Amino acid sequence: MKMTNRIYEPSIECASRKEIERLQIKKFNRILKLCKKSRLYKNIPLPPKISRIKEINQIPLTTKDQLRESYPYGSLTLRLSKVIEVHTSSGTTGNPVPMFLTKRDLEISNQVLARTWFCNGIREEDIFMMMGEYGLFTGGLLNHYALIHLGALVIPMGVSSTEKQIKFLKDFKVTSMAGIASHYFRILEKFKELKINPKELNLKIAIAAGEPYNEETRAHFEEGFGCKFMDQYGLAEINTGLAGECEYRCGLHLPWDYVYPEIIDTHTKEILPEGETGELVLTTLDREANPVIRYRTGDITSITHEKCKCGRTTPRISRIKGRVDDVLFVKGIKLCPSAIESVLWEMKNIVKPEGWKLRIERIKGIEELTLIVEPRHFNKEVEDKIVCKLKEELGIRFNICLEKNNFSHNKLKRIIDLRSI
Ligand SMILES: [Zn+2]
Repeated sequence: MKMTNRIYEPSIECASRKEIERLQIKKFNRILKLCKKSRLYKNIPLPPKISRIKEINQIPLTTKDQLRESYPYGSLTLRLSKVIEVHTSSGTTGNPVPMFLTKRDLEISNQVLARTWFCNGIREEDIFMMMGEYGLFTGGLLNHYALIHLGALVIPMGVSSTEKQIKFLKDFKVTSMAGIASHYFRILEKFKELKINPKELNLKIAIAAGEPYNEETRAHFEEGFGCKFMDQYGLAEINTGLAGECEYRCGLHLPWDYVYPEIIDTHTKEILPEGETGELVLTTLDREANPVIRYRTGDITSITHEKCKCGRTTPRISRIKGRVDDVLFVKGIKLCPSAIESVLWEMKNIVKPEGWKLRIERIKGIEELTLIVEPRHFNKEVEDKIVCKLKEELGIRFNICLEKNNFSHNKLKRIIDLRSI
């Protein structure tokens, strides 16, 4: 494998679209054959083979519910003895979705994910602290294997105590790290408490992933930690660490020999042209144990095939704008959680814009919205200001609950919708 100091696998990452399409067709035809052996795709009309890549567009979409229904072994395409590892989605709402790996699947996953980390700026000489959750979650172990494949020194910290993480950052002279975006707020608080200046550490690059965060949050982290913060995208159903930003930070590079991406209109399911925002749909091109065809990720983004300034020709998705199911319908109005967050950032001198939560309930038939947020100073005046600003910007009246927030290692569940209870 040829590698430059800027691009991990130029033969794939800088190839022409035509060349890759030929490879995609070849790989997808193999996937089609395999899928016919799984219970998941038994009743789905699949073509015997395709000769043009666009023919994928005519195949029915796969939903998360279908994957859940095939739990535990229904999505397997080969004998169980060929499988060496299984990971699953969290399964907080129903059965989890398994991701099985053969030896070949794991080797390919390592190579593809190593590319993402390299694109993010991680190198062999890095001392890397992984703060993702180890265990069933793909984000810990599968990324860990890929970082070892890349040659970095990996500290498998996992979701340990923040104090211990800080001790290791210092003692082992950690140069790069990865974790859930909201966890970095907690580390910053701890730095303050322990009177440690993070800029005196050896940190160069941090990867914040697992949940969408805006540019204001990124700037806040970069200022606080004194290092670069890079975005990455992945999902349990397809793979973790799938796409990553390069040094130009103009979208996240996708491995086009590993997944085939499409953007659809969530309601009409029509394919949207390049550059338009919609739901990301992914087809795995190189997973043999349980491939997934046209999976509706639920993530909102757009795509471009324009060559990037870094020299890569791979398609890039924009930073995730939110999730399809995040869009709320309250008091007859469509409300995106990211809009609430933006308003809070505008008031950052009086509130802490991170870690907010929204509770929605129906009281005597009327929908009530309560925004739980931590103020810089607790007083009634702050509360009134937030109410006014939100009403002015979003056209909705919120009740405000001022509360000190407690960040956890887990993904922040911002919306607590009690309306159906
Ligand atoms: Zn680039």
